Amino acid sequence: MRTPAQGAQEPQEAHGAGTAGTAGTAGNGAHETAILTIDLGALADNYRDLRERAAGAECAAVVKADAYGLGMAEAAPALWRAGCRTFFVATITEATDLRALLPDAAIYVLNGLLAGTAPLFRKNDLRPVLNSATEIREWAGYCDRVRAPLACAVHIDTGMNRLGLSASEVAEILAIPALWRTITLTLVMSHLACADDPGHAKNAAQRERFDAARARFPETPASLANSAGILLGHGYHYGLVRPGIALYGGHPQRQGEVPFRSVVHLMGRILQIRAATEGETVGYGATRTLTRPTRIGIVAAGYADGLFRALSAGDGEVGLTAYLGPYPVPILGRVSMDLIAVDVTDIPDAYTQRGAWVELLGPNVSAHAMALQAGTIDYEVLTSLGTRATRRYIGG
Ligand SMILES: *Cc1c(COP(=O)(O)O)cnc(C)c1O
Repeated sequence: MRTPAQGAQEPQEAHGAGTAGTAGTAGNGAHETAILTIDLGALADNYRDLRERAAGAECAAVVKADAYGLGMAEAAPALWRAGCRTFFVATITEATDLRALLPDAAIYVLNGLLAGTAPLFRKNDLRPVLNSATEIREWAGYCDRVRAPLACAVHIDTGMNRLGLSASEVAEILAIPALWRTITLTLVMSHLACADDPGHAKNAAQRERFDAARARFPETPASLANSAGILLGHGYHYGLVRPGIALYGGHPQRQGEVPFRSVVHLMGRILQIRAATEGETVGYGATRTLTRPTRIGIVAAGYADGLFRALSAGDGEVGLTAYLGPYPVPILGRVSMDLIAVDVTDIPDAYTQRGAWVELLGPNVSAHAMALQAGTIDYEVLTSLGTRATRRYIGG
């Protein structure tokens, strides 16, 4: 699961739960069994890093899905303090929540305009990302009625076939100049389908289509790049970039080292250490038969805390590798809802105490490594972390 380069790096002590592996010193209270630490300093550093990489363009922030599961209420103000002024969310509800946090931010709603919601946009000073000719007509009609040229973005589809206007819809709607006089178009955008693979031919193809479409809106700032698009280089940056995952320490690309600081640290507590003999099995389904006398640490975190069941390790399989202090501890058997078992046979006694803390995500276990191991993407790791672990925000 770890790339050779990551494996070569010195294991580090995870922060966020006191001295990892030492009983009794971690957390805020004796009752805590899992702690999710979110480093707002690292988040701000990642924002500044991305802004630097896209120098010349405005760097916005995508904070949809509760800031990718990390908590919009904490993340968005931290990004504002780092200088971010433009934010993207998916839904109107997310947008009204964000408006309460950031009265002066520009807020775009990616899912666009739902019928009858224009007054809600106006009331909360939100900008719809208009995804079809129908939405543009509706917004223009509303602006006309209230005699206010309200701000909005137009999303042009350049090959993703998700949301956005097709090239023919763009032509159709441009043929109605009166529409454009009633609204204020502040952004023309599109979204890349394959930016996580820098060598993919679709990247350049989408950029060409975007150039052709946005030429019809020469006055309007343009935006094409998500996190992965920023890494594709200057030609993809235009006037505004829209990173999400990279802010939160995820890796926007499939290959290579994670170039951003890790923001999330998940620690789980050892509830008991048990000894089992060769030939016994561990966990649901008895999928793992022990091949030696084994000391097992039972850790208080499971799939309800975002440890996917795909991280299980039956016989002959490799699953999650957690860390106890500087020591890797492989998972044994299946992930259950609230618990996992890890092999601590070879770990010094000082670390294998009841109440010790195990690093499940952190400096030694990146969201990217966990995602690769579970057959998913960093985005799903972060948005699956759940609400049960005690949350601590540091570096704010
Ligand atoms: C989610 C999203 C982003 C952010 O993407 P990341 O890959 O997380 O950087 C940008 N633009 C649109 C349209 C999105 O839906």
